[in-house]
Amino acid sequence: MSIRFANVAGRASLLLGDALVDVARASHGRFSDDPMAALSAWDAFAEWARGRGPGDATGPRAPADLRPPVPRPSKVFGIGMNYREHAAEAKLEVPTSPVVFTKFPSCISGPFDEVELFSDRVDWEVELVVAIGRRGRRIAEADALAHVAGYTVGQDISDRRMQFADRPPQFSLGKSLDGYGPTGPALVSLDAFANLNDLALSCDVAGERMQRGRTGDMIFGVPALVAYLSKWCTLEPGDLIFTGTPAGVGSTRDPRRYLAPGEEIVSAIEGIGTMRNRCVAAPA
Ligand code: ZN
Repeated sequence: MSIRFANVAGRASLLLGDALVDVARASHGRFSDDPMAALSAWDAFAEWARGRGPGDATGPRAPADLRPPVPRPSKVFGIGMNYREHAAEAKLEVPTSPVVFTKFPSCISGPFDEVELFSDRVDWEVELVVAIGRRGRRIAEADALAHVAGYTVGQDISDRRMQFADRPPQFSLGKSLDGYGPTGPALVSLDAFANLNDLALSCDVAGERMQRGRTGDMIFGVPALVAYLSKWCTLEPGDLIFTGTPAGVGSTRDPRRYLAPGEEIVSAIEGIGTMRNRCVAAPA
């Protein structure tokens, strides 16, 4: 059975249909309530989790309580220009190796959290997010998926004003403001997907479909990204990879379109779920 791992009000949990399994209670303390602890022992945790059924339910699920499934990653990688159409709309050449930047881990927020707009040029980027479940360095592409705990939905919220203020542009700060990394609603194990290399993803803003794509259109797929990143950096359990966004971001639309207070960003990926993040003006 596949695993839908969630962070419910700060506690490691499994989603089983409409029911919730509190990991610490159902495992009688074998696994702690900290979602990061489950990630750090993912292989053992996954084996336990796959054996859970309706009899282990500890309560109903309440979507409002969902927090980021991986709340404190040690590293958060972002990949730029990883969909051909997005590279084309940004008028950049298709890269020959992955374009890597960082989002600082403190930007990670939950699937229903608000996004504070600090400028009038804040943009959306729906992305498939990979969570690492097994430590590794120099991982071969053929072994890469064994190091992945699961997939979740992410928004690589980007303040374009900050991102392009400097010459050359620098990505990290403008993509790392608090709350600029919504993730969730659950971390889903790879065996849940009929075709894990080709998932539909979409982003709506204020009810308008802005992005529509398929992960099969990635230039560098998940195994290639895991192999490439692990060539340079040890990947740790809980590390996140934002794998890039398809076409349709606001900064390349004509006319340009950015997020406004009161608008809701709805981000969805087939087989994982939907996040809803409302935009609010940042306090002056
Ligand atoms: Zn991105």
